Amino acid sequence: MTVRVRFAPSPTGYLHIGGARTALFNWLFARKHGGQFILRIEDTDTKRTMPGAISVIMDGLRWLGLDWDEGPDKGGPYGPYIQTERANLYRERAHWLLQEGHAYKCFCTSAELEAMRQEQTAKKEMLGYDGRCRHLTSAQIAAQEAAGLDAVIRFKMPRDGETAIHDAIRGDITYQNSQIIDAVLLKSDGLPTYHLANVVDDHFMAISHIMRADEWINTAPLHINLYRAFGWQIPVYAHLSLVMNPSGKGKLSKRTQAFDDDGQQVLVKVEEFQEAGYLPQALVNFLANVGYATGDDREKFSVQEAIDMFALERINPAPSRLPYSKLDWLNGQYIQEMSPLQLAQAVKPFLDVAGFEVNPEALLLVMPAMSKRLKRLPEAIEFLRFLFDAAPLQATAADLTHTQLPPTAAQAAFQATKEFVTAVAPYTLETIQTGMTQIGEQHTLNGKAGPFLGLMRYAITGQQVSPPLFESMVALGRARVLARLEEILALLGAS
Ligand code: GLU
Repeated sequence: MTVRVRFAPSPTGYLHIGGARTALFNWLFARKHGGQFILRIEDTDTKRTMPGAISVIMDGLRWLGLDWDEGPDKGGPYGPYIQTERANLYRERAHWLLQEGHAYKCFCTSAELEAMRQEQTAKKEMLGYDGRCRHLTSAQIAAQEAAGLDAVIRFKMPRDGETAIHDAIRGDITYQNSQIIDAVLLKSDGLPTYHLANVVDDHFMAISHIMRADEWINTAPLHINLYRAFGWQIPVYAHLSLVMNPSGKGKLSKRTQAFDDDGQQVLVKVEEFQEAGYLPQALVNFLANVGYATGDDREKFSVQEAIDMFALERINPAPSRLPYSKLDWLNGQYIQEMSPLQLAQAVKPFLDVAGFEVNPEALLLVMPAMSKRLKRLPEAIEFLRFLFDAAPLQATAADLTHTQLPPTAAQAAFQATKEFVTAVAPYTLETIQTGMTQIGEQHTLNGKAGPFLGLMRYAITGQQVSPPLFESMVALGRARVLARLEEILALLGAS
């Protein structure tokens, strides 16, 4: 069987991390089996559609590297891939069901439905449409239509027996048909509901496997009966585990905000992870491990490894929390794997936002030191602040001395440094390293360069954590190092 899977988000504003994980699992499955991954936009609930939301979803998927084979922007043999552009198809199928006796017109007004609901509540009955229009005669229907009443089309759900879902992850789940209400398929505005559009599209787009969030399980028995009414083959169902709040209380919802155990708000939108400086490969790795048994304790694996090991049987149906605390660690690991150029390119947008103008060469030099320390890309701003701040000298005179370097020795060492920096040619990592080490050795009491190089590093970067001194000096450039040395000397009372 050709594997064809789809990610079918509603364009309600952003790409939720749980949605991204659903997309990822579908994508991994398609890539594993050489099948197709389809992006379909389910926008028939027009009240919830947000302008621009489709591009936000596509940008998020692209950023994660989840490329689709067919979709709104790409087209494909089964398009269009936006449901509101397929309205005629749903209407035609709804009317077919009507003609075949699998559906009926319902003229109930919202006031009647509300009264029904109140009565059911009062009598503690099952809530939902009671099927009162199911048996209208053709004369009654004609009369309602002649009176100009709006109608919806409802599915005539079989009343007896049961419906079993064969779920590839959860096994069989059985529902009593009597518990499933006659759902609306086509609304009075002529647009389909989620149920009709979803089933019609999965059939006409030749979807082989429906892998989606477990909140949709309850809709599966209705959908299965729709497939049967149409006489269509039922795709394989695989409902993924629920992604929970980090606290373990409730699902990580699209609409509400999520908090961790300490009451800290956690990220839920893919764009927030991007803005927080996570790398897409780290996020993909993180998500691939949620509710999934890798078979060993491996936390870190590449996308290719995730594809190779992907199997529906390994998906764990139990709800799982997003282990946010692992994400920083994982991100740090991926940062360390980047070349200096890749890392410089990755941090550049964050420095730009912070208003720091970047000199690419200076950045390259300090990247190796930075890559070991960074967990999230915006941390580069603090780490590299000394390169951008006009006046970074935070030090007091006391900070510029050391037991091995009392005030007079410190003054002499910084003075010698000034002369050295003024004259050294070429101004490179090697020449600076040699010259500075000599100055340190000459001026410290114990003849070791370390204490002086430490003071110098703090003096010119003003930071407790910074790249190594020699790299920092080259990155700053001769003129700015000299300017800072002037400040240091002034502070130490030298002329
Ligand atoms: N449009 C649904 C959603 O936003 C898709 C559900 C499904 O995949 O069947 O989650």
